[in-house]
Amino acid sequence: MNRRRAQLAFQKLAFQRLCPVLLALLLAAFALPAASCRQSSPAADSAGQSAAAQPAPIRPPDYRAEDFDPTPQTPPALKVSGAQAYQNLKDFVALGPRFLGSPGHAKAEQFILGHLEGAQIEQDTFTAQTAAGAFPMNNIIAKYPGKKDGIIVLAGHYDTNYPLRNTSFIGANDGGSNVGLMLEIAAQLRTHPPEGYSIWLLFTDGEEATVEWTDADSVYGSKQLAKKWYADGTASKIKAFLLLDMIGDKDLDIDRDTNSTPWLLDVVGRAAQRVGQPHFFVRNNTIQDDHLPFAAVGIPVADIIDIDYGFNNIYHHTTEDTPDKCSAASLQTVSNVVMETVRALNPR
Ligand code: ZN
Repeated sequence: MNRRRAQLAFQKLAFQRLCPVLLALLLAAFALPAASCRQSSPAADSAGQSAAAQPAPIRPPDYRAEDFDPTPQTPPALKVSGAQAYQNLKDFVALGPRFLGSPGHAKAEQFILGHLEGAQIEQDTFTAQTAAGAFPMNNIIAKYPGKKDGIIVLAGHYDTNYPLRNTSFIGANDGGSNVGLMLEIAAQLRTHPPEGYSIWLLFTDGEEATVEWTDADSVYGSKQLAKKWYADGTASKIKAFLLLDMIGDKDLDIDRDTNSTPWLLDVVGRAAQRVGQPHFFVRNNTIQDDHLPFAAVGIPVADIIDIDYGFNNIYHHTTEDTPDKCSAASLQTVSNVVMETVRALNPR
């Protein structure tokens, strides 16, 4: 993940940096389908071209967040244990560094898969050509079918930063916190399947830059999967994509990300108010993260991230990113807001 403070100049810079990816994806999303209409049998010999053969997903209208407020008839939110999420975090990062190509990465995949009993598992494996060479990658998707037509995705990455591979960096907050919470959500969904929309837990790979963060050198797994979900029509079924990143910080400050979908952020903000977390979204920030490729194919996205980890973000991408800097209380806070958001997003 990368950030730009929400001053105008930085927003402009961030937009400029995003332009190549956005342009490429928008071209795939809108320009190419028009071209394919003139072909009786659109070519589909590559991921990009098969994407062009599909209709563009319809962007949602500008919903009013108030329309999602639960009614007395809305089923309660799923109960999730912050304490168990924190225990999962500790167990997960005890595997060691999880950078691309490392033994720890393979162990991390097996650890995650080993905690997804009862889910429908899809492994989106591919080889990414990165700035540091070719690496096998694996986006792991755990699907919990609901009773309504539509999908809510809860996502977060599990790899650790590759440039820090020669250090003891374990990413307790950066990659570990979201995995810890998502595995606890998985445990709860096993016994409390969704009543409304299906819930998919997406563990993304290759979020981190391999050399230095650029549009090209980052979010490899998400770029691959967004393209795939666009091509196979999944994207148009996804009602909301909630990204969880660096959510374990003891001193929790979740900022409002200006790269996320405004109405969806408002739904999250109102959920935070309802569960007694008024300090959510006090400040604005502009974040480059796993949500951007999904936003670019028309999926409503919200990045729930605390990008102020330690004083002046001093622990981020350092060997100080260890479990003692995180807390069960912060994971509980985030899970309460996320689960209330999921509750609100479901159809009445
Ligand atoms: Zn990171």
